[in-house]
Amino acid sequence: MSTGDESKAKSSAPNESSDPSEQSEFPAPAWTRGEPRIAGATDVGVVRKINQDAFGRFDDPDRGEIFVVVADGLGGHRGGEVASRMAVDLLGVNVFEGDSDPPTRLRNGIASANDAVLLAAREDPMLDGMGTTVVCILLVEGDRSYVAHVGDSRLYRLRAGRIEAMTEDHSLVATLVREGVISEDDARTDPRRNQILRALGVRGDLEIDVAPIELQPGDSYLLCSDGLHGMLDDDEILELAKRSTRPEPVVARLVEAANAAGGTDNVTCVIANVPEPMPVDGLRGAANRLFESTRSVFTRRGDPDLGDASAPDRDSSENDA
Ligand code: CA
Repeated sequence: MSTGDESKAKSSAPNESSDPSEQSEFPAPAWTRGEPRIAGATDVGVVRKINQDAFGRFDDPDRGEIFVVVADGLGGHRGGEVASRMAVDLLGVNVFEGDSDPPTRLRNGIASANDAVLLAAREDPMLDGMGTTVVCILLVEGDRSYVAHVGDSRLYRLRAGRIEAMTEDHSLVATLVREGVISEDDARTDPRRNQILRALGVRGDLEIDVAPIELQPGDSYLLCSDGLHGMLDDDEILELAKRSTRPEPVVARLVEAANAAGGTDNVTCVIANVPEPMPVDGLRGAANRLFESTRSVFTRRGDPDLGDASAPDRDSSENDA
């Protein structure tokens, strides 16, 4: 039972990894509280005719792993659509293959999806020049989780009322912002904002960013294409995300807001919420409420003994107030 162990979650996690020194700052298993609740939404937007974004969620229950991915296809004709779908479907298989550690499986999985997209583009002239961004998380039960990405699709973490980008865009404007050449506001409208510096399907020796993420109970992870973060700034995303603890209404609201803000691009977002432990008081209140409702049913049916014989403790009437 792991309720009320927030202090434990902050301490070091016992781990059988060959590299314990790097594991020590990561929290204890979050999974036993229930697996993350995940929802995604994608929309063509209000300007474009084809949705070249794709997303997917894949599970390996034996390993206790959940893989979530968003891909934003690039390239004319139907190429972008094919590339993003290929990347999502291939990665959903690749990342669970072999016995390597999660970051290695992520890296190998993306590299081999890259090869497959390159090959498909080479073999079919209609698909020439296609490519796709990828941002994905591998959620691992009882251990550290990982993010991997290529391109300008992002992972955000929402924690304790704050939003933080966990990925750095591989794009020209992001580089210019980092170098102080243009501001973040300028980047949003810069005509070069579609220039991606890295993507699957462009070259064989793809550079892939992989980083650990430290899951804490109550965290929300948002994966999105630039159709979201190009339309809404971080504070707007945070405001919409804060309105519900369930991911389903939030992803719908985010898509709606991106379209209301112009919807000039396809928009995709997926949210994974790490469950929060139920407070001990909350559990006791729930148990008492259940007891009370059971008792009132029996009482209404005319069971004369139940009312007095099994009087609830003092807390229950207060909790019901
Ligand atoms: Ca896009």
